Amino acid sequence: MRCSECGYEERAMKTVYWPCEGDEADEHALCERCYGEVAEEVLIVPGPVPCFGTCKECSAWFSLRDLHDAKPGGRRSAPSGICPSCAAP
Ligand SMILES: [Zn+2]
Ligand SMILES: [Zn+2]
Repeated sequence: MRCSECGYEERAMKTVYWPCEGDEADEHALCERCYGEVAEEVLIVPGPVPCFGTCKECSAWFSLRDLHDAKPGGRRSAPSGICPSCAAP
């Protein structure tokens, strides 16, 4: 990853966004030093696997991308939907 501020490269970096930009906020990778300078202003984007939800049919956990018709309010307040195997006829 490459710091969007200073160009410094590292294997893992914080990915952040400026909440003041609203829903359309761009995500930026920042090195520790640059993050330190703006830590008050930014929020960290949760890890590379953003969200998991459960399948209503088989109760297994799936990435939200794989869940069909995912809606909030499932088990442990995670979203729930239908997984690809349960969705198959
Ligand atoms: Zn930097
Ligand atoms: Zn399922």
